[in-house]
Amino acid sequence: MTASSESNKVSICDVGPRDGLQSEKRIWTVDERVEFINRLSRTGLDRIEAVSFVNPKRVPQMADAESVMAKIDRPDGVRYAGLALNLKGVERALESGVDEIRYVVVASETFNQKNQGASIEQSMSAFDGIAETVRAAGKRLSGTIGVTFGCPFEGEVPLEQVLKIAKRYVDAGVHEIGLADTIGCAVPNQITERVGAVMDVIGKDIDLTCHFHNTRNTGIANAAAAVMAGVRLFDASLGGIGGCPFAPRATGNIASEDLAYMLRNMGYDTGIDLNALLDVATWLEGFFPAPLPGQVMKAGLFPEVAQAS
Ligand code: ZN
Repeated sequence: MTASSESNKVSICDVGPRDGLQSEKRIWTVDERVEFINRLSRTGLDRIEAVSFVNPKRVPQMADAESVMAKIDRPDGVRYAGLALNLKGVERALESGVDEIRYVVVASETFNQKNQGASIEQSMSAFDGIAETVRAAGKRLSGTIGVTFGCPFEGEVPLEQVLKIAKRYVDAGVHEIGLADTIGCAVPNQITERVGAVMDVIGKDIDLTCHFHNTRNTGIANAAAAVMAGVRLFDASLGGIGGCPFAPRATGNIASEDLAYMLRNMGYDTGIDLNALLDVATWLEGFFPAPLPGQVMKAGLFPEVAQAS
């Protein structure tokens, strides 16, 4: 998956089964998680972040990643990513057969300590060995930069700090770098600025992904800014579910179907069958006590909804 910023093809990775479920009060069973992933894989999405290989004592919602990976369908054209934060997690991920491994370093010391139990320097040093292991296994490697646009503990995050981590990822040989607005505080002009600065540092051979949360209702505007700045890979979660167990006041990701709708109507090609995706969102909502944050599932697709009434 290489993403050219001149192309009109955009890929959405649905992170609902991982980012979406990891802070849910009700712990989903393995079979429910498998069904969720399988339903997503039949909508034209080409990438799903299915599991996380973190310590189940810290994130019990993500336990049994191996069982989930063993039970899901593996249709052609869909890639399955797993999150891992240390070598042990990476080894588990490789053994379970994921296509891609995602690692995270958080761009603020306080948050990295809380999320990873390590300093940024320790997380980056550990990454070099991880990168070697993943490359030797021939799998795709992605490095995410958490709180790229602001930290719940330290506030503003200096751009230099983000660029420093991006450079370390480049040196380690990643295929892709992700910029995450973990707590949903970014605004569009900041996206334009930081995406441009990071693209300058990482060059054209490394893909750039954006990961937005909609905590302050700026998520979809940020996605619009990112795609106009040349970003062609996005994370989003069906229905807008999600949060972060270690980030106070963080709410869900931007909704996959809202993002796919916006991109389609802007003239981009995501390969997603929007009606199929909306059907899965409706199915998903049945598991939650309140309506999901996604808006297109309530309003319907335009212009289809106008023609139908
Ligand atoms: Zn997230």
